[in-house]
Amino acid sequence: MSNTVKANVDHSEIAKFEALASRWWDMESEFKPLHDINPLRTNYIDSQCVLAGKTVLDVGCGGGILSEGMATRGASVTGIDMGEANLNTARLHALESGVNVKYQCIPVEELAARQPESFDVVTCLEMLEHVPDPESIIRACYQLVKPGGKVFFSTINRSPKSYAFAIIGAEYVLRLVPTGTHDYSKFIKPSELTRWCRNTGLAVTHMTGMVYNPLIKEYSLKDNDVSVNYLMTTEKPAE
Ligand code: SAH
Repeated sequence: MSNTVKANVDHSEIAKFEALASRWWDMESEFKPLHDINPLRTNYIDSQCVLAGKTVLDVGCGGGILSEGMATRGASVTGIDMGEANLNTARLHALESGVNVKYQCIPVEELAARQPESFDVVTCLEMLEHVPDPESIIRACYQLVKPGGKVFFSTINRSPKSYAFAIIGAEYVLRLVPTGTHDYSKFIKPSELTRWCRNTGLAVTHMTGMVYNPLIKEYSLKDNDVSVNYLMTTEKPAE
């Protein structure tokens, strides 16, 4: 592993997720929000690219919540993560649910150098806000997708509202996720994500917000509200 790649993994972040690795598939655990948004985001990805029959790379796949969702739609999915404990949970769960997903512990930058342009679709959801250099991850995703293929990102905006919702609301008031899960300074504005994508050569084709309503405890997609969580569809130009 090169030093640049090594430097782009924050081991304290990985450790936070690995400490909870046994709970990825417990619907009432710290990962409940990811389970709650999973049908929404899987539908969104499917509507933007038609998953059936596609080869998909899921970057920062954790326990495989999204990877399995996409495999169930007929995609051939590979999940990568830098937390081996997360991947072990993912592998075990895939066996239990009978879903076929390949899991591998490898930095995305290294996979990009080894097998460029080998996936129809790349997804990198809820991960960019946990890495030291998100643009390097985006560049690797660009390298890994085939020309004409789609790359999906989701993350949390850096705004007063996201501070109120994602930190105060989710970590302290509603206690949806453990205190310290997120670092506000690492949240990413849509304008920044758009700029990084453009810098690598990815064209942003669609963006939508994921909005949580604490009263009815439900998430929904809202195109005109990217103030907290948001999803972005990008495309690598065809050759
Ligand atoms: N994408 C999944 C999990 C999100 S949690 C989902 O949305 O359901 C964030 C995940 O990113 C964790 O599993 C963590 O181990 C992983 N991660 C953090 N930094 C990483 C890095 N540099 N490379 C690969 N995975 C990373």
